[in-house]
Amino acid sequence: MALGSLLPELQPGGTSRTPLIERVARWAAEKPEAPAFTFVDYSMDPSGTKITLDWAETDRRARAMAVRLREAAQPGERAALLLPQAHEYMMTMLGAMYSHIVAVPLFSPDQPGHGERLVGAYSDAEPAIVVTTRNSLPHVEKFLADNDVPQPKEIIFAEEIDPALAASWQDEPIDPDDLAYLQYTSGSTRRPAGVEITHGNLAVNARQLWAGWAPDRPNPELVTWLPLFHDMGLMSAMGLPLVYGDHVIYTAPLSFLMRPLRWLQLISECPNVYTAAPNFAYEYVAEHATPEKVAELDLSGLVTCLNGAEPVRPSTLKMFTETFAPAGFRAGAHAPAFGLAEATVFVTAAAEDTPPRVLIADREALSQGELRLVDAPADGADAAEGEAGARVTSLVACGRPVGQYVAIVDTETSAELPDGQVGEIWVHGPNTAPGYWRNSERSQDTFGGVLAEPGDLPAGPWMKTGDCGLIHEGELYVTGRIKDLIIVDGRNHYPQDLEVTTQEAHPAIRPDFVAAFAVQGEETERLVVVAERNRRVPLARLDLDEVESAVRAAVNVEHEMSLHEFLLVEPGAISRTSSGKVARAATRQRYEVADLATTEARLAGRK
Ligand code: ATP
Ligand code: MG
Repeated sequence: MALGSLLPELQPGGTSRTPLIERVARWAAEKPEAPAFTFVDYSMDPSGTKITLDWAETDRRARAMAVRLREAAQPGERAALLLPQAHEYMMTMLGAMYSHIVAVPLFSPDQPGHGERLVGAYSDAEPAIVVTTRNSLPHVEKFLADNDVPQPKEIIFAEEIDPALAASWQDEPIDPDDLAYLQYTSGSTRRPAGVEITHGNLAVNARQLWAGWAPDRPNPELVTWLPLFHDMGLMSAMGLPLVYGDHVIYTAPLSFLMRPLRWLQLISECPNVYTAAPNFAYEYVAEHATPEKVAELDLSGLVTCLNGAEPVRPSTLKMFTETFAPAGFRAGAHAPAFGLAEATVFVTAAAEDTPPRVLIADREALSQGELRLVDAPADGADAAEGEAGARVTSLVACGRPVGQYVAIVDTETSAELPDGQVGEIWVHGPNTAPGYWRNSERSQDTFGGVLAEPGDLPAGPWMKTGDCGLIHEGELYVTGRIKDLIIVDGRNHYPQDLEVTTQEAHPAIRPDFVAAFAVQGEETERLVVVAERNRRVPLARLDLDEVESAVRAAVNVEHEMSLHEFLLVEPGAISRTSSGKVARAATRQRYEVADLATTEARLAGRK
């Protein structure tokens, strides 16, 4: 049974496709002095300086930016955002939406570790303009000089726009099908692809998400540090507040990474607050919490914390709840979610006020495509073994879609699969993008799915997510990416299961910095696992053979397969995407050309 329905007001042609940018003017007229965007700057003062723009000022700055962009470029041309996260970034996004200039939300080129992604996305988008700041200019100039990329016609400094320009802006009609921005995917499995997000897509998806969260208390606020160049960050900080004119409090990703508790301190100041982040962030902040720090927090106002963009771990949810319950955190606030740029971002969420639901499934049956439930052990959360030693996987419910359809489909026959069977997750709704920027072949492959026997469902077009999952009791469970599946001797294995087994096998392995992937062998694929060394274990005490045999034994016992090669590498050696996900394919490529800094080489160098 597929999930979802198209809410009447969310259907194509319904009013909710009305471009969100029109709402900025509305809030500026209806509540000019209400706070719209508060940026918390920790760069000068570690306790944070808040800079708030009200709706009137937001509208003025956005219009001024629109005027400036149109002086430099024609409608339909692209503007690349190569600047740090702050109000200037947000106002550029809004200005571009007024102006019919297509924004390409990227980042300042000095952001470490993501050079390749920037070159790929920037060249693909072929921007006419770069928007940056004086401080970032040297990095932009270096980026443009050192790489073989198209040169912009003009560089605009976002902080130098005169707000008085706003007066000369003449509103132009915006069609819901007009392109608003290009959302580049994270690049977990490939070179990032530019998803074409229309004004209608953004408007609908923001409303779908609010409808799923159903705020029932007045004046909800949003707190976020997520990068604005990432789909979930842009939706939380820019899309959601526009719908009802709510207040967003945001900061830069680095400010969170340096002191993760800042996130929860900002939440503590709000009586009715929503937030979103990937799983790693919940784990990271819980690890940094001490009882003294928790005692200073008040999380009783936190209604919903969305957890998506990467696999949701039951152990993380449990650890977060246990750590922050003394500060008033309720387990019901957890909202595991599934989404992707091709659907604007949001697809499903388990947003109701109940603790997350976890299934304990037989791993072998699951790898054959079948959900077989195993009696959960008393402590269901991080079960590795259920009844009589059965090997199990725990799956977290990611809830239901709102205003769109989700179906589980057999990739061979394009037929919908019954509940409890694993197939590809397909999505149909007014929030799915029209395609990838300038790539009609790939667009047709991804966005042109047609169901073999649709029954009551729309026949097409369906967007194929590339993710596997299943439906059980009306909720979606995500099992992994098709491209990452490791198929050895005809059996499917999910890399994340092998990665968890590896990191639990020995303390010298850095948790969450493990990549499992397949390389082609003679008859079947072979399993390779690359794991980063945990800095907490001193090099002098490290016995490489001991680590390797612990991992081999664990993989053998847990998964009944043999490991072709195991590599312990130095911290930082595993490739990650700009949003922090393990990039298995990129790690495999570096493994294949022997470009990984191994601990063995490091130890040899010390002798
Ligand atoms: P690329 O498409 O360039 O390889 P990406 O798929 O990581 O990168 P995004 O659109 O940022 O780019 O991320 C969406 C993907 O994140 C989904 O397709 C899915 O693989 C993963 N994801 C999102 N939510 C979940 C979830 N709840 N559980 C497991 N995986 C998830
Ligand atoms: Mg993807």
